[in-house]
Amino acid sequence: CSWWDHVTPAPKDPVNAVTEAFLADPCPYKINLGVGAYRDDEGKPIVLQCVREAEGKIAATNFLESTSTAVSSKFVEESAKLVYGEDSDVVKEGRFAGIQALSGTGACRLFAEFQKRFFPDSRIYLPDPTWSNHHNIWRDAHVPERTFHYYHPDSKGLNFVALMDDVKNAPDGSFFLLHPCAHNPTGVDPSDEQWQQISSLFKVKNHFPFFDVAYQGFASGDLERDARAIRIFLEDGHLIGCAQSFAKNMGLYGHRVGCLSVLCNNKIQAVAIKSQLQQIASTMYGSPPIHGIALVSKILSHPDIRAIWHKEVKFMATHVQRMRATVREALEKLGSPLNWQHITNQVGMFCFSGLTPNEVDLLAKEFHIYMTKDGRISMGGVTAKNVDYLANAIHEVTA
Ligand code: PMP
Repeated sequence: CSWWDHVTPAPKDPVNAVTEAFLADPCPYKINLGVGAYRDDEGKPIVLQCVREAEGKIAATNFLESTSTAVSSKFVEESAKLVYGEDSDVVKEGRFAGIQALSGTGACRLFAEFQKRFFPDSRIYLPDPTWSNHHNIWRDAHVPERTFHYYHPDSKGLNFVALMDDVKNAPDGSFFLLHPCAHNPTGVDPSDEQWQQISSLFKVKNHFPFFDVAYQGFASGDLERDARAIRIFLEDGHLIGCAQSFAKNMGLYGHRVGCLSVLCNNKIQAVAIKSQLQQIASTMYGSPPIHGIALVSKILSHPDIRAIWHKEVKFMATHVQRMRATVREALEKLGSPLNWQHITNQVGMFCFSGLTPNEVDLLAKEFHIYMTKDGRISMGGVTAKNVDYLANAIHEVTA
C-alpha cells in the first residue's frame, strides 16, 4: 500500500465539468454557455480597450516591493469608492478595512476565515440557489451554512415572502451573503423597494450583510445603478462587507484582481480588522500579485480611461440584454408553447432558463450546446452568430 491510496479524485466543479465536455467535442459549431464570461462573436474572450490603455500607462512601472504598498492602497481606495460611492463618508473617513484579494473567490474566502476566527459559533446564510463555490468556500473555512429562500421556480422570479420570512426567523445577528446585482445563477434581483425592506429587516434583526459583488455593471450597464442595493444598506447605517471581483466587468479573469472591504465604526477598528485580514492572507499565500491591481487602479483613477471602461461595460451589458430579447423573440416566432418572459425579466450574465437536466443533456448530445445541469445559460456566450441556432435548439428539446 502506498501513501496516496486513500486519495480519490475530488468531485468536479460543475462549470469546469461543462468546459471539459465542451473542449472534448470536435464539432465546429459547438457552444459553451457554462462559464460566466463575456465572449466576442467568435466565442473568444476579449481584452477591453480600457485595459489596453492602462497597460500602456503602467508599462514603465517598476514592480518593486517599495511600490506595492502604495499601488495596493490606491487600488483598495478606488475599489471602495466604486461600491460605496465616490463621495462616501465611509471612504473619506477611513472607516473601512480594505485589502486586496485574489479576485472574488479569494475575497470571499478571506472573509469566511475572518468570520470563523472572530465569530467561531456563527453560520453563513446563503441564497438558494447561489454560486456553487459559496458552499465550498464557507465549508472549507469550517463555517456551517444555512440557506434562505430566494428563487421561485414557478414564477422564475424572486420568492420575496419566503426570503423575508427566513431573514426574520434567523437568529439575531446572523451573517447573510447577498448578491447586490445580477444574481448568479438565477439572474433574479430584488427591486429597490424590496432591498429597502430587506435592509430595514436586517436592521431590526441586527444581521450582517456580506455582499458578493462579482458583476457590478452587468445588470443595468451602469456601475452606479448596480451598486444601488449596497447604497440602500449604507443609507440605513449598516456595517457591511463587500467581496469585489474585476474578473467580469474588466475582463481580467486571469489576473485575479479582487478586493475585500469591511465597514467599521471608526478608524481604530479599521486598522485592527485590516491587520487581522492581512495576517490571515499571509499564511495562505503571502502577498498577492501587483500587476493586475496596477491596471485596475489606472482604469479607475484616470478619467479618460475610466470613461472608456464605463462605455465598454455599458456595451457588454446592452449586448447581453439584446441577446436575451433575441432568444426570446426567436422562441416565440418558432411557436414555442412555453412562456419565455423570464429570459428578458432576468438580468445580468445568467439566464436561469428552466430547462430540465434531461433537456440540458439533449442540447449537449444533439446540438453541441453546453451549460450546467441546472439549466443556467451564460448569456455572455450568446452571440449574434449563434443566437438563432441556440433558440432553435431550445425549441427542439422543449417542444
Ligand atoms: N461570486 C460570484 C457570484 C461569481 O459568480 C463568481 C464567479 N463565477 C465569483 C464570486 C468569483 O469569481 P472570481 O474569483 O473569478 O473573481
